[in-house]
Amino acid sequence: MQTQKMKEKLNHYIDAGFPIIYINTFEEMKADGIIAEVSKSVDRGVIEWDAANGRRDWSINNKGLVKCQCNLSIDEDDSLVNMLRIINDEEELSQKILVIKDAQSFFDDPRITSIIKDIGHKILSGLEATIFIVTPILSIPPELEKFTTVIEIGYLIDEEISEVISNFINEYELQQVAQNLFDEMVVAFKGLTEYEIKNILALAYSNDGSFTKSDLKLIHEQKQQVIKKSGILEMIQLNESLDDIGGLDNLKNWLKKKATVFNNLKKAMEFGVDMPKGVLIAGVPGCGKSLNAKAAAKLFDVPLLRLDMGRLLGKYVGESEANMRKAISLAEAISPCVLWIDEIEKAFAGIGESGGGAEVTTRLFGNFLTWMQEKSSATFVVATANDILKLPPELLRKGRFDEIFYVGLPNDEERKKIFEIHITKRRKLDFVKINITELIQKTKGYSGSDIEGVVKDSIEAVFATGKSELTTSDLLEAIKNTHSLSEIMKQELEKMSKDYENRKFKNASF
Ligand code: ATP
Repeated sequence: MQTQKMKEKLNHYIDAGFPIIYINTFEEMKADGIIAEVSKSVDRGVIEWDAANGRRDWSINNKGLVKCQCNLSIDEDDSLVNMLRIINDEEELSQKILVIKDAQSFFDDPRITSIIKDIGHKILSGLEATIFIVTPILSIPPELEKFTTVIEIGYLIDEEISEVISNFINEYELQQVAQNLFDEMVVAFKGLTEYEIKNILALAYSNDGSFTKSDLKLIHEQKQQVIKKSGILEMIQLNESLDDIGGLDNLKNWLKKKATVFNNLKKAMEFGVDMPKGVLIAGVPGCGKSLNAKAAAKLFDVPLLRLDMGRLLGKYVGESEANMRKAISLAEAISPCVLWIDEIEKAFAGIGESGGGAEVTTRLFGNFLTWMQEKSSATFVVATANDILKLPPELLRKGRFDEIFYVGLPNDEERKKIFEIHITKRRKLDFVKINITELIQKTKGYSGSDIEGVVKDSIEAVFATGKSELTTSDLLEAIKNTHSLSEIMKQELEKMSKDYENRKFKNASF
């Protein structure tokens, strides 16, 4: 959310007498700045408590925000519970904003939740005060839920990122950065907080005292770290392209068509093309579904973010939904990007069943569907699934994904391409002497991953025996020692392919 919009919203909440506003953020300093401005515009004093300093009262003068330690001497009790007891008084709280930080560590203390609840009641009965809980962890105790409104300090928009970079350059009196490098830096910083951006800028600057093209790599590396630490999304390195995928031409052509839109978004939107939503790729394990997610991001020339659905689930009320919101807003902040949801059927297993866990999953699923339906950002979702029959039918309805593809075992022509890709990647010069036709005949029912395994094993065996080149017989030997996927799960695969045919999903191959 833009800072200005956020201030307006908070003003509105305070005027409307909302008792507790829960600001979910890592950026305490930014939250301080916003609260300081809001307190000025609604003309209220601010009392803050945090674990390190105890109570501090705010004053805002021409130097900015000043926090003054209260009259307590060092041996007095400056615990949260004591401060709340002292302050829980209509006169003391009237026309005040009470800011509580580090609160999540104290929510297990019933005395604290009880006093906050009591203040909440007073505010609802007309006391002109507001409690702000500022914390990076969303954990609302159930007894405070009905008093609480959650606000997230969202990611910076492009103009705000530009301002952070410009301010940094001016503050350190650095050489101005060429416009195209500046623009690339703005894109690279998307999805990071102001604090994180400043840290990375400081790191880049400390290397050689200026910003150069080489710093983009550093920004990307640091950003990968930051996103990983969020615990929900991971930024995946892009090594594979469409040329690394044997077969699946139907799917690849479809992705190429989408790429013409994605690579010319502005023009396409002006022309009246709809924003691409995404694709669901389902089918046989080890046959290139993940490979396509990676190749799509490379083709679209955008970052690839993997969403770990298992890690969305949290133990506090609303935490899972908040994690989902966080993941989606981070992906939208980074967009244009590809958001890859691997094994989506596992994330949404148990939908519609009763019980705590299933209810959370059902709510998460509802949030996800609504987002997919209404999504207008350039966040292209690639969802991959092994077993589509485990997916709730609502997900398969029109309007969620642009298309659903079924990936089956590779046919003769596709196996030929897959052998070629994996052999030339490792032993380019040997490839011309290989009798591919023989390999194809012997590998009916092999998955792409089985074929890759055969190539790797045979090359390793050749090396171990000290021979200098890979031959057809080495590969045939490895094939003999391999149990193909269709050998291992014959019945499941037959059933799967019948199910997909009945449902008339598009075949990724032709
Ligand atoms: P899973 O459902 O088990 O995650 P998947 O369908 O996502 O499987 P991938 O991870 O894409 O499978 O493929 C596994 C490996 O097998 C890849 O790293 C790739 O090397 C190889 N492979 C699979 N299919 C192909 C293909 N069509 N062309 C080239 N290589 C392939």
